[in-house]
Amino acid sequence: MVKTKGYAAQDPNSDLAPWNFERREVGAHDVQIEIMYCGVCHSDLHQIKNDWFPGIFPMVPGHEIVGKIVKVGDHVKNFKVGELAGVGCMVDSCQECENCKNDLEQYCSEGNTQTYNNLDRSGSPTYGGYSDTIVVREEFVLHISEKLDLAATAPLLCAGITTYSPLRHWKVGKGHKLAVLGLGGLGHMAVKFGVAFGAEVTVLSTSPSKEENARQLGAHHFVVTSDPEQLKAVKSSFDYILDTVSAEHDMNLYISLLKTDGVHICVGAPSKSMQLGIFPLLGGRKSVAGSGIGGIKETQEMLDFCAENNIVSDIELIDIKNITNAYERMLKGDVRYRFVIDSKTLTN
Ligand code: NAP
Ligand code: ZN
Repeated sequence: MVKTKGYAAQDPNSDLAPWNFERREVGAHDVQIEIMYCGVCHSDLHQIKNDWFPGIFPMVPGHEIVGKIVKVGDHVKNFKVGELAGVGCMVDSCQECENCKNDLEQYCSEGNTQTYNNLDRSGSPTYGGYSDTIVVREEFVLHISEKLDLAATAPLLCAGITTYSPLRHWKVGKGHKLAVLGLGGLGHMAVKFGVAFGAEVTVLSTSPSKEENARQLGAHHFVVTSDPEQLKAVKSSFDYILDTVSAEHDMNLYISLLKTDGVHICVGAPSKSMQLGIFPLLGGRKSVAGSGIGGIKETQEMLDFCAENNIVSDIELIDIKNITNAYERMLKGDVRYRFVIDSKTLTN
């Protein structure tokens, strides 16, 4: 077994604290990565707080993992010791269903195996990247370029692919007006990709203080959603809204900002279901859609696109001992735009 140092929540009411555990031995098809950085996603907070469903505790969160390969199994073909590698939100899937065969493992008909807060296919709990090492089957390991800042690359494994994938699926680009709703970890990546794909990008935000920064990220326009006048000015104007908001909000309000045939794409995952009026959809043949992370092939494509186009996340590097404070600040929208844990600070 592989001895591992981690940070875990023992239950939904206690703060994360040091916790040592064991991972499986490196199998013939496995890669072991020494974790160097791990991003802090709002999904980590949702899950340790049981926002979505009762979690599996102790819980070691973290699904934006980058590091160096320290061991590979005998049958591993595509990875070598010493290379950089990444792991995102999934570590396994059935590999046989129609979705898996179509490179959509995230929609595996048996359910993909999540990197943490899940049971793997042998029934053991999975533990995430707030830890010093991880063992993952090769098919779910990503190649990471040496060209980019490694700490700032970590958030691409979730915030990056979760925004890249729907923008690619709906072919958002030149000639499209894209609104990014919520400027957090996912939102700021959506702005970067939207701009890189040639769309005209507007940020819809509750935080007036983010305007200057949004423009530095490349956004062409900024709308404060609490100001009715500013909202009125963008009524019926967007082809797509990418909704990254983590808390309950009035979707109907935003649907009124779509043009005819516009699509409101939900990637944010608030814990409560929201009321959706049907008439606002009928008037203008509008759609509401959802999208979950992205498949492994597309995640590699996104990482390669980022390496070619010099795209990384804007991050604040933290000591893991400050994780509770980081969660408090994330809840207040006080992060520009992703906390990333420096794994060297794991000194259990
Ligand atoms: P985040 O960094 O906390 O960003 C969320 C942003 O939403 C905030 O910065 C804020 O932006 C806005 N917001 C927060 N509360 C709001 C409220 N009450 N009303 C309106 N706007 C509000 O979170 P994240 O890591 O980007 O994650 C966002 C959501 O996506 C989470 O629910 C997460 O679980 C989910 N997620 C989904 C997937 C998927 O596969 N679909 C993958 C990863 C994450 P402003 O300050 O600009 O208003
Ligand atoms: Zn995430």
